[in-house]
Amino acid sequence: MVDAGARQPIVAANWKMHGDGATLTELARGIGEATSRAAAEVVVCPPFPYLERIGAVLDESVSLGAQDLHFESAGAHTGDVAASMLVDLGCRYAIVGHSERRTNHAETDEIVRRKAAAAMRAGLCAIVCIGETLEQREAGETETVLERQLTESLRGLTGDPAAFVLAYEPVWAIGTGRNATPEQAQAAHAFLRGRLRALENAELAALVRIQYGGSVKPDNAAALFSRPDIDGGLIGGASLDAAAFGAIVSACER
Ligand code: PEP
Repeated sequence: MVDAGARQPIVAANWKMHGDGATLTELARGIGEATSRAAAEVVVCPPFPYLERIGAVLDESVSLGAQDLHFESAGAHTGDVAASMLVDLGCRYAIVGHSERRTNHAETDEIVRRKAAAAMRAGLCAIVCIGETLEQREAGETETVLERQLTESLRGLTGDPAAFVLAYEPVWAIGTGRNATPEQAQAAHAFLRGRLRALENAELAALVRIQYGGSVKPDNAAALFSRPDIDGGLIGGASLDAAAFGAIVSACER
């Protein structure tokens, strides 16, 4: 039987479309210093134009990740970026299916699945985001939505627990300052682990890391990350401050 201790927590910084080369370089250095002795795995996901520059200054304990990618390996896709290009730049992770992409770019579960598959084919670990809207939660549809997003966004892709990380990100908690309570988040994570057990097997389900994302801050991180099925976080706003992000990473001690 595999227990939670077998999963190294993972905390990823999603810088979205913030900053410039100089401020993000300084932020990357600060994050390296603030997290160099972390028990958790630390990932930083800068905007595309700064991947190379940030990769060059990142502490070797910190992994580089991309915020998105295209599902084709090459071709006439103006403005898009292929998985192999991200690998070339030193990326080890790629976020797919973030709710901002699902909303702003009309990404469906099928598109997310193709992106996750492309990332995995190139050797990237896909951070696959799923989560319900407030309307869906209030209608009692959270588990139905999570089940659909999990099975469709990762259809046929759940066989290797090292190839993906699930990020449970309730849409209503992203950037709102209103985090899911530790109880709400733990319930969602336990549900998702249970579905992975049914889809694959108990051992695999016990190995898959499930991050929580949505208004994680230094003062709520420990309560969230101490729950048995919460394996770290995907951090937006608070990842733009090295000290705050460092404190969140430190809250992962198991
Ligand atoms: C996110 O964008 O994935 C996120 C969780 O943002 P924030 O931490 O700002 O809510």
